[in-house]
Amino acid sequence: MTKASIMWFRRDLRLTDNRALHAAMQKSDQVIFIFIIDPKQIQNNASVNQSAFFASVLHFKETLAKNNITLLIQTGPVIDVVTEIKTKVPSVSDIYLNFDERGYGRKRDQQTIRHLSQELGIVAHPFLDFTLTSASSIKKQDGSAYQIFTPYYKKWLSVQKDQPLPSLTSTEIQDKQVAEPFEDHIDDLKKLINPNHSYAYQDSLGEQQAVNTLEDFVSNKLADYDQNRDIPALDGTSHLSRYLRTGEISIRTVYDAVSRQPASLGKETFIKELCWRDFYNMIYTIYPNQKDQAINTKFQTIPWINNESQFNAWKNGTTGFPIIDAAMQQLNQTGWLHNRLRMIVASFLTKDLLINWTWGEQYFQEKLVDYDPASNIGGWQWAASTGTDSVPYFRIFNPFTQAEKFDPDAKFIKQYIPALADLPADKIHHIDRLSEADQQQYQVILGKDYPKPIVDHALARKRAIASYKNLNA
Ligand code: FAD
Repeated sequence: MTKASIMWFRRDLRLTDNRALHAAMQKSDQVIFIFIIDPKQIQNNASVNQSAFFASVLHFKETLAKNNITLLIQTGPVIDVVTEIKTKVPSVSDIYLNFDERGYGRKRDQQTIRHLSQELGIVAHPFLDFTLTSASSIKKQDGSAYQIFTPYYKKWLSVQKDQPLPSLTSTEIQDKQVAEPFEDHIDDLKKLINPNHSYAYQDSLGEQQAVNTLEDFVSNKLADYDQNRDIPALDGTSHLSRYLRTGEISIRTVYDAVSRQPASLGKETFIKELCWRDFYNMIYTIYPNQKDQAINTKFQTIPWINNESQFNAWKNGTTGFPIIDAAMQQLNQTGWLHNRLRMIVASFLTKDLLINWTWGEQYFQEKLVDYDPASNIGGWQWAASTGTDSVPYFRIFNPFTQAEKFDPDAKFIKQYIPALADLPADKIHHIDRLSEADQQQYQVILGKDYPKPIVDHALARKRAIASYKNLNA
């Protein structure tokens, strides 16, 4: 009897090294490719992240179509969609998916798998695909979960990582396509892509682009990654996060390509960053409520000030702190933000402005093309000192000295803030002390050409430490 299966694509928009897809192809005579728009997961039309993700889905669909492969776009609750497919193709007996280990996806997957088996007799085959190691695979000797990164990392290094699977050919897939006519909801998909956000994704869609990005990084940037990764003006990082978020490249392909390179500090440092991704994935599974709750219970009641106009200044890059403003411009103009800058702006929002980190997390969710809840919440709780292995609350980044250290010539700042283009770097790094004479000479009048700082960093620092200290007592 013909064995038909569904391959349910989600955050794994690729044919290469896709574990669920491989298994589906091996075990089935016919495979129906679907992507389901789940109305519960739709954010809003302002979300750059959402536009970029669905633009990747559309690109994937169009690329497959060029090879005579159909990816069906369906809308609705997963169970309804699968039930309808089963009605049209009764031989469907199995569904293949790369499962979510955390958050909303985890609950949805568990419920769906149970329901499909009980109600429709469809067997689900979930695969771990998104991370190098599963959340439950790296435990302490006593079986409990690691809370601190460094011991986790040591253990993680010792765990064997899976190799990428061999590529599938288009012909192999075409031979297993199901000819049944299904209604395709491509218009629903297109509605989710706001063309105003095209700046954030237009040049960076698809598996091929992801592979090019990886090859460029490995050939030209990896060896010096340890030196350059903290300098925004050098652009020394991989920019792979957007592709890992959509699954246009697999994490195993990235790890494998890097592992094959000669030993270097750059390689070692990069692999450590990949481990942070697994670490935060694991942390999210053990703290499922961390999107709106501080993991460190001591800091669940920080007396946030939550000043709306200061929040707007932060979002719009008009705080009067050049490194903060340039960073927020990078985020707002490109949909991506350099890691060092994510740390600096997150520290500024939570410590200098005493604005709840969940506000910043939410803003990043809308604006980042690489938004990943585990890494984003992890990063925010790190910066707010509320996470498992966070920056201590009394070590507060000084935005001026951070800029001096990581953007010494103010090259990055000038790129994003044209008003400061003619101001010497040493003046930019002390703009709060810019004299009247300098303002006239360089034609940067504070409050007119460029905002005055919205807070006094030294006072804000003391205020933040006092707020945290009270709770830490
Ligand atoms: P590279 O430096 O080239 O690193 C390679 C890969 O390692 C990244 O693509 C990413 O998958 C992983 N990685 C690197 N650093 C981290 C880290 N600190 N935590 C987890 N994984 C890491 N990363 C996201 O992918 N999505 C997010 O939503 C996200 N939000 C963040 C929010 C804050 C406040 C902070 C401090 C960090 C956040 N990060 C997030 C982590 C990091 O900033 C980005 O992964 C990185 O900047 C992406 O650029 P890249 O691919 O060039 O990174």
